[in-house]
Amino acid sequence: KSSVLLITHNMALVHRYASRVAVMYAGKIVEQAEAKTLFKNPLHPYTIKLLSAIPGAGKRGKPLDTIPGAVPAPTDYPGGCRFSGRCHKEMQGCASIEPLLAEREDKHLAACHLHDSEFMKKDCARPLKRETPGITQEEKYRPQAKEDKRTLVEINGLKTYFPIKKGILKKTVGYVKAVDDIDLSIKKGQTLALVGESGCGKTTAGKTILRLIESSGGKISFDGKDITRLSGKDLLRYRRLMQIIFQDPYSSLNPRMKAGDIIEEGLKSLKPYMSKNERASIVIKTLGMVGLGAEAMGRFPHEFSGGQRQRIGIARAIAVEPEFLICDEATSSLDVSVQAQILNLLKAIQREFSLSFLFITHDLAIVEYMADEVAVMFEGKIVERGTVEEIFSKPQHPYTKKLLASVPRIE
Ligand code: ADP
Ligand code: MG
Repeated sequence: KSSVLLITHNMALVHRYASRVAVMYAGKIVEQAEAKTLFKNPLHPYTIKLLSAIPGAGKRGKPLDTIPGAVPAPTDYPGGCRFSGRCHKEMQGCASIEPLLAEREDKHLAACHLHDSEFMKKDCARPLKRETPGITQEEKYRPQAKEDKRTLVEINGLKTYFPIKKGILKKTVGYVKAVDDIDLSIKKGQTLALVGESGCGKTTAGKTILRLIESSGGKISFDGKDITRLSGKDLLRYRRLMQIIFQDPYSSLNPRMKAGDIIEEGLKSLKPYMSKNERASIVIKTLGMVGLGAEAMGRFPHEFSGGQRQRIGIARAIAVEPEFLICDEATSSLDVSVQAQILNLLKAIQREFSLSFLFITHDLAIVEYMADEVAVMFEGKIVERGTVEEIFSKPQHPYTKKLLASVPRIE
C-alpha cells in the first residue's frame, strides 16, 4: 500500500481519487476534510467559490461563478485572513484578525471566522458593506437568437499526413496519419467541441482547418467558399476571419513584445489599410473587452498572471474581428476560478459577435457547459458526432463510452 499526495487544480480528479482534501490559498491551508464532506458541505468561502466555478451540464446558459480580483503575490499578502478583499462573506474584523485552522465539524477543519462562534458574537463580525463586482450566478445571459443557423465552416474528407523520414537520404518510409479523412461542420454562432485523448490529432486538425498546416487531402470551406488551396492575398482575407487561442499562454506570446504590440501585430498584417491611430484605439477597446485596462499595453507578458496572459491571447485573436475561433485547450493550464472567468468571457464574446467556436478540450465538464455539438476523435478519425445531449446521454461508439467513463467528472 502506498500513500499519494495529489497536487492539482483539477477538481474532478480530486473528486474521483482523493480520500482527504486540503485546500490551499495564498500559502495557507484554509480547509481540510474528507473528500465527500468537502464537496457536499464546503465551509470556507474560498472553497465554496472554487466549487461553484467548475463548469458542467447543470450550469449551461448561466455564467460561471467567479472570484473577484486575483491571488495576491506572496509579498503582498493582506493582513488578517489572506482571502480578505476577495471574500463574498467578508466581515469587518477579517482583514485584521487572522483566522486559525481549527476543527469546526467532525474531522473538518476550516480557517474562517464564520465558523468561530466566539468571533461571531463580537462587533467585528458585522458584514463588510461592499459592492459585489463582477457577474453573479443569478444573472442570466440574454437568450441567443435561434435563427441564422447556417453552416460557417465545413470540412470534408480532410487529411493531414506527416512523412516519416529515415536514413541519411531522409527517404520517406511512411506517414503519420495525424488527421485521416474527417468531416466536420460548424454553424454560425455555435460551438463544436472536439474531444479525444492526447495525440489523436485534435491540434493538427485545428491547424489544418486554419491553413496553418498544409492538408494532404480533402476540402475546407468557409462561408460557402472553398479555401483549401487559396494563397497570397486571397488567403489573407480568410486569415483574419479565422483565429486560434492556444493552450499555453506562456509560450504563445512573444516574451519580447509588449501586450499592446502583440495585439496590434495581427491588425498590422491582416488589416494593413488601418491607420496607426485606428489600430491604437482598437487595441484599447479590445483590452477593455477582455477585462484589462489600457495600462496593460505597455507591459510584457511575464508581468501578467496566467489568466491575464490568456486574456491577451484572446484579445489578440478577437482584435481582428474573426467569425471563427478555435480554442485549443485554451483553459487547461488555468485554475478553476480563472478558467471560469475565461469561459465566461468567451461565451460573452460569442454572444455579442455571433462567433463560431471549435473548442478542443479533454475536459468533459467544459464540453457539457460550452458546446452545442460534439465530435469524438480517435486515432485521426472522427468516430462519433452528435449534440451534447446525444453524446452524453446516448453514446453509440465504444470509444465514446470508454472516454465518458474514463474522464473523471463531478456529477
Ligand atoms: P492532439 O492535439 O490530439 O494531442 P496532435 O494533433 O498534436 O494531437 O498530434 C497528432 C499526431 O500527429 C501525434 O502522433 C503527433 O506526434 C503527430 N504530429 C503532430 N505534429 C507533427 C509534425 N509536425 N510532424 C510529425 N508528426 C506530428
Ligand atoms: Mg493538442
